[in-house]
Amino acid sequence: MTERIIPIADARYNAGTPSVPENPAPATGRLADAHGRMLRDLRISVTDRCNFRCSYCMPPAVFDSNFQFLPHSSLLTFEEIERMARIFAAHGVEKIRITGGEPLLRRNIEALIGMLAQIRTTADRPLEITLTTNASLLERKAAALADAGLRRVTVSLDALDDAVFRAMNSADFPVADVLAGIDAAAAAGLRSIKVNMVVKRGVNDGQIVPMARHFRGSGHIVRFIEFMDVGASNGWRLDDVVPSAEVIARISEHFPLEPVAAQYHGEVATRWRYTDGSGEIGVISSVTQPFCASCNRARLSTEGKLFTCLFATAGHDLRSLLRAGYSDEQISGAIAALWAGRMDRYSEIRSEATSGLRRIEMSYIGG
Ligand code: SAM
Ligand code: SF4
Ligand code: SF4
Repeated sequence: MTERIIPIADARYNAGTPSVPENPAPATGRLADAHGRMLRDLRISVTDRCNFRCSYCMPPAVFDSNFQFLPHSSLLTFEEIERMARIFAAHGVEKIRITGGEPLLRRNIEALIGMLAQIRTTADRPLEITLTTNASLLERKAAALADAGLRRVTVSLDALDDAVFRAMNSADFPVADVLAGIDAAAAAGLRSIKVNMVVKRGVNDGQIVPMARHFRGSGHIVRFIEFMDVGASNGWRLDDVVPSAEVIARISEHFPLEPVAAQYHGEVATRWRYTDGSGEIGVISSVTQPFCASCNRARLSTEGKLFTCLFATAGHDLRSLLRAGYSDEQISGAIAALWAGRMDRYSEIRSEATSGLRRIEMSYIGG
């Protein structure tokens, strides 16, 4: 039986309150970790709750009606999130992804988007704000999100076949409503819409080609993601992973593909384009081709813990610094010290030795 996972007040996930340097140096916009990786990307989880129960993320047997989600008082407020985002931007963060759980469940999320859209990078450009969603509320929310300043969105959709999708999300949610959400986002002016599909062998790998066929020529980029061993509840097995090389081969049989050079250092997806000019796809190969060497992402959990790796077992409690009245400079100094000591490269060293670790759940840390 799977052990119940209760994130609240669980010391195993808590790396403690970071120490605050006495005389913190001002942020320079360039923060390198112990492997020379510059901080550029921040993912912020705004809720640990979700209205889906995707088998690879929040299996319904674990996340059942008894599951204890975080109480509202534990969550960072929008003001606290904005303050953290400003401090991170001064350290060189250029891109913020809002995630969860299901971020559109957080009430008035568009207000947060509006606040973050005002922040500028050290190069005096607006922060790039993006959001990952299961799209269940996107049709309703797209216009308000766009008005607030959201320019990009990533929608998760694991199958075009309605029965396969309804079974995977365990909420009996139909494909048509996700597609309507994507259309609403496009109509609201959101650009570069990406569609994430987690591929699980024997579950939805038969949907690889139909998904490619459907989105070819639409301008939306499907990204095929290898099923990852994130968290401790999804029963991950290597046999369930469909390697990206196989995804590319399967699509190429129908629609020939050629590789495209990365747009920037640290790009997670490897890009491919259809040779007939009908668009692009991406593959995210964190199991078969780990990309830790260029990983420039930090994650801020729903309750304000800083995780320096998706596979971390504990996060640094920044919320306690916020609520203890420390200044921006002091919190900035604490973050700089944490990032400078960052050694994480889990996917590169994934092995028997690390598989027993009690990793944090994706829905809590933010995907
Ligand atoms: N609820 C939103 C959604 O599904 O888009 C945002 C949060 S979700 C945790 C973020 C992304 O993580 C989704 O695209 C989801 O498919 C992906 N994800 C979750 N568990 C995963 C796993 N075990 N392996 C690979 N990707 C996973
Ligand atoms: Fe919810 Fe997203 Fe996880 Fe699915 S992948 S259970 S939609 S948080
Ligand atoms: Fe980054 Fe950790 Fe993923 Fe490696 S395993 S790419 S360090 S988040």
